[in-house]
Amino acid sequence: DRLVIAVDGTSGSGKSSTSRGVAARLGLRYLDTGAMFRAMTWWLLREGVDVRDVAAVAAAAGRPRIESGTDPVAPTITVDGADVSIEIRRDEVNAAVSPVSAVPEVRARLLELQREVIGDGAIVVEGRDIGSVVWPQAGVKVYLSADPDARAQRRTAEQGGTDVASTQQSLLERDRIDSGRATAPLTMAEGAVHVDSTHLTLAEVIDTIVDLAAR
Ligand code: C5P
Repeated sequence: DRLVIAVDGTSGSGKSSTSRGVAARLGLRYLDTGAMFRAMTWWLLREGVDVRDVAAVAAAAGRPRIESGTDPVAPTITVDGADVSIEIRRDEVNAAVSPVSAVPEVRARLLELQREVIGDGAIVVEGRDIGSVVWPQAGVKVYLSADPDARAQRRTAEQGGTDVASTQQSLLERDRIDSGRATAPLTMAEGAVHVDSTHLTLAEVIDTIVDLAAR
């Protein structure tokens, strides 16, 4: 198999910018699995499914057609052919995505799609359970973290907002649910290298991972 780089970590730890940067530098494809869970959540909300109703979410999980483009410079995500890149970053989705992602049928469905996209490799894959569940045989596994203050500040700036406290609350709430769920919780995978980005620039984090891949 060709190289697979798994990048897992908490919300707002810089996984997306880092993973895209690494993929662009190494000429690899890029898969944002969080965007797939967000797309599923966006579709459930649009269909009027009660996202706290586990049975209803499980029953609907097979219906949307979710497709991910893998160009690190211009990643895309579509649901039934419609681009939802903007919609999936909204507050309603932020608030609902962790409960939806805890439903085993949702994970099973997306796991299948994720493994299909990974195929024979040459890809950087970011998420919560890539090194532990989706692709435990990945050649490079990274667990990315940062202090909650740093994460909230970066995420707020990214979104052009000002309310750091409420952004932090939303990040920590997602971490709490993602780490506590029964199926594929966020943990540091066996063999993962822990990179704490709190005091590193984006370029430094990218360099660190590129160096790991060269070993
Ligand atoms: O990475 P991002 O913050 O966009 O992910 C949104 C949510 O999707 C996470 O908070 C988590 O609930 C879920 N997720 C997951 N497993 C993944 C990727 C994301 O459960 N591999």
